[in-house]
Amino acid sequence: MREALLGRTRGELKELLKARDPKPYRAHQLFEALYRRRIRELQAATDLPASLRAALSEAFVITDVEIADVFRASDGTRRYLLRLRDGVLVESVWLPEPYADTICLSTQAGCPLACAFCMTARLGLRRNLEAGEIVAQVWLILNDIYGPGVRPERGVNLVLMGMGEPLLNYENVLKAIRLLCEPRGMNISQRRITLSTAGVVPGIRRLAHEPVRPELAISLSATTNALRDQLMPINRRWPLEELQAACREYPLRRNEWISFEYVMLDQVNDREEDARRLIRWLRGIRAKVNLIPHNPAPELPFAASPEARVLRFQHILRAAGIPTFIRHPRGREIAAACGQLAARRREDLTGLLASSPPRDAAARE
Ligand code: SAH
Repeated sequence: MREALLGRTRGELKELLKARDPKPYRAHQLFEALYRRRIRELQAATDLPASLRAALSEAFVITDVEIADVFRASDGTRRYLLRLRDGVLVESVWLPEPYADTICLSTQAGCPLACAFCMTARLGLRRNLEAGEIVAQVWLILNDIYGPGVRPERGVNLVLMGMGEPLLNYENVLKAIRLLCEPRGMNISQRRITLSTAGVVPGIRRLAHEPVRPELAISLSATTNALRDQLMPINRRWPLEELQAACREYPLRRNEWISFEYVMLDQVNDREEDARRLIRWLRGIRAKVNLIPHNPAPELPFAASPEARVLRFQHILRAAGIPTFIRHPRGREIAAACGQLAARRREDLTGLLASSPPRDAAARE
């Protein structure tokens, strides 16, 4: 099977070109064709000699990820079902917004974390995505929306909030981010990429020292260990105190905040005392809070908090000076909203659920 080029660094391209054409600038040409112009066929890299294009085409494809299906919602949201080389399915979401569009990326096929309110958790972990498979999600969607070679005029935001826990696939995720940020490639600003973690504390501490790093979001959703242990079993491994210490020590840049995601679950974590405990917990952290109304699914044992309670919660946090926003669900009707990604084509769903039960993150590693 021919290997994919997308996901390789300039240095790696140089290496594979060496035997075929030793001119040092060939790697730059190929890099720009792949990432800046997003060519779909090697034949379109017309600045490379025809013989080199032919030789490369014999050994390589541009990407081995393909769009298996696209679901469109009435609000413009599109959910992409992508098929990887080995047949594994993952999902990405295109979210058009008035000022900038956002692509929500997956970093793992499935997820090992077993959060009680999330559909992806029900799949368990199939495998980590490679850097090329993460970059390919952006590449495929931009090409689908704009066509090759066209730069999105108002830029694009990336959120690593699809399937999977990015900090449990650290190397591949960081490699993908560095590629996406390459000025002579896709040229996406690191400040427009947000990585969301359920709280992998060593990963957060490591991220703090990366020369190129995304903005940080943390899925919190509970302010006592008793509740968070139940909702997000990863808390048994890295409890709230350790997470809080890592957040307090995290070196923020200019105009940077840590975002905290808080899924609002009816009667579970949405009372006034929860809001007050959250205010105390966030002390000493430059924090923003995003309240996410729970996106229900028949398989999930929770209901969404009523709107009045979400507003009340927001009001209490804002009164304490914490910038707090309510995330409006997008693409619910096509199962594209937060926590609904489960690569379920109707015919796949039963098979997937039966073959890979959710695993407990605390029991892993
Ligand atoms: N593993 C990472 C990345 C996934 S992000 C993380 O946990 O942050 C997915 C986001 O969707 C998380 O903030 C999570 O709390 C939220 N989420 C999961 N299930 C949800 C649901 N059913 N309704 C609303 N938000 C949900």
